[in-house]
Amino acid sequence: MSEPTQKSLGGWARDVSESARSLWEGMSVTLSYMFKKPITTQYPDRMPLPVVHTLPTRYRGFLEVDMDTCTACQACERACPIDVINIDLIRGDGVTTPKTAMERFDIDIGKCMFCGLCVEPCPTGSIQHTREFEGAAMAFDNLTLRFVPDPAKPYPAYKPPKGADAYPRKPLGEIVRKLIREWDAPAPAFPQRDGQTPRPGPAEVSHVPR
Ligand code: SF4
Ligand code: SF4
Repeated sequence: MSEPTQKSLGGWARDVSESARSLWEGMSVTLSYMFKKPITTQYPDRMPLPVVHTLPTRYRGFLEVDMDTCTACQACERACPIDVINIDLIRGDGVTTPKTAMERFDIDIGKCMFCGLCVEPCPTGSIQHTREFEGAAMAFDNLTLRFVPDPAKPYPAYKPPKGADAYPRKPLGEIVRKLIREWDAPAPAFPQRDGQTPRPGPAEVSHVPR
């Protein structure tokens, strides 16, 4: 068995001084924060300004569709590279029922990558990115925004007036804010068409005690 190494007095003194120096270096960083203005942002309840007012001008938040100016052209659906938008059309006779109506206009914001490709081809500016971004949900189905709430009441396609180059639009965000559900809301039953096998009901949301 070898003898333990004997340290010289100078070696111990050096170790003590190095430990004290590194301790001081670490603590001085910590102590310096006692005299600095805190930069912590207590989101969302103690913000000096609502976050929406601090976003860049061209911020891309949740998509919103103003159904009153949607022509049902499906250009947005075709433009989306990852099939986030789903529009189902029904055809009428144009006399007793509208020639074209939408019984479904869904946008799955859980899948959307906020690229804006669907906004570009819209002829009336009906589909737009809003500045809304808060929409955490416990049930995945609640991330699908349904702009036709009831498939039994299809939305007739908008006919732009001849020569129009501007279209009336509801204030941006007003529509989508109403569609964003409470974070712990149970998922709605998925709309079914006649003759389809019913999709299994949404799983019950397990409520986590807060
Ligand atoms: S923003 Fe992009 S990903 Fe989202 S729906 Fe539009 S095209 Fe699709
Ligand atoms: S939102 Fe615009 S692009 Fe999409 S179907 Fe309606 S009019 Fe066409």
